[in-house]
Amino acid sequence: MDRRPLFKPVHPVYEVTEGIIRMGEAPGFTVEMEDENGSIRKMVKLMDGTRNVGQIHNLLLVDYPELTYEEIMEAVEALSGLGFLMDQAKEEASGLTLEQKERYKANIRYFSLFTNIDQSPSRLQEQLSGKKVTILGMGAFGSTLLVNLVGVGIQHIKLVDFDRVELSNLNRQIVFNENDIGRLKVEAAREFIARLHSEVLIETETLQIKSSDDVERVVAGSDFVVLAADQPFFILQRWVNRACTNLQIPYIAGGFNLIEGQFFLVEPGKTGCIDCMHLHRYRQLEDYPQLIENLLITNFVPPTATIAPNIMMITGMMASDAVRYLTGIAPVQSAGKLILFDFNTLEKKVFFEWERNENECPTCGMGSGTEPIFQIMRKEMYVE
Ligand SMILES: [Zn+2]
Repeated sequence: MDRRPLFKPVHPVYEVTEGIIRMGEAPGFTVEMEDENGSIRKMVKLMDGTRNVGQIHNLLLVDYPELTYEEIMEAVEALSGLGFLMDQAKEEASGLTLEQKERYKANIRYFSLFTNIDQSPSRLQEQLSGKKVTILGMGAFGSTLLVNLVGVGIQHIKLVDFDRVELSNLNRQIVFNENDIGRLKVEAAREFIARLHSEVLIETETLQIKSSDDVERVVAGSDFVVLAADQPFFILQRWVNRACTNLQIPYIAGGFNLIEGQFFLVEPGKTGCIDCMHLHRYRQLEDYPQLIENLLITNFVPPTATIAPNIMMITGMMASDAVRYLTGIAPVQSAGKLILFDFNTLEKKVFFEWERNENECPTCGMGSGTEPIFQIMRKEMYVE
């Protein structure tokens, strides 16, 4: 396919001082260069996505007869390397419908910030549209992530929850309204999405997860899983981890503890899994199993104490990382890392990272699972 270079419309080009031009204005996207005879500005103007390199060269020859085709090719590679070019031919060849191109216009421009001329932002959008994501839990986290994921272009989503909408949810769970009170959350959320984006396929399942087998059944066939529920504490995460590891499905999990939000992403076979994390913590803190056990014995489920903005911030970060993971546009921030976000200081930090422990992990490795931390789950009293 003949490339038709397009100077990315998100970046301006202008003369700063006599003979010096600047491309781009945003931090990290700004370059200045000499352009004494104006040939670069002219070339950039011709790179509007309607011409191939040969045509651009021919038109430049009118004013700059000394320019060779090879020099133009070099300039294309250089501008592409600096992140300023995309290929309009590739954009037009993407499988997106006209409706999708319009709806996702700003997404595609955003993706274009990260691509070179050989990668297509529209293709990244198409990739997202083809993914299936399962969200476990339709509370504040799940419902807000749902909206974010539909916004970025995921078009097949499965919602799993057993709860009904209550008036006290409406301070932060914005997909629900007063008419939904008493209805199943998965049903109300499905209706909300139908009005937001009628082409999104929403599957629902009314289920309280009670085992790893439950999780395997509901997430099978998904490309990505969002764990947006936290009860039973400790155990639910391990069920989801086991199921996603068995099925090799990546997942992101998040929660909050009063003034702190936290999340992490697990990619089976690459990052450490949650049991690798428990082993890591156990090696660091001798009384770690006791700590977890105490929390389970008291079975203290704190009453929800949060405001909508805090939920939006932490779920926004999670969805943003999910986009990085699913498109590859930039490094995933939470892969094998526990990210903490302080809602008061607005500071983010990596609380700790952990590696995959192939030898000792009982779930993603060859470990026996005899460590005390893995015995906790076996006690019937904690499992409903
Ligand atoms: Zn593991």
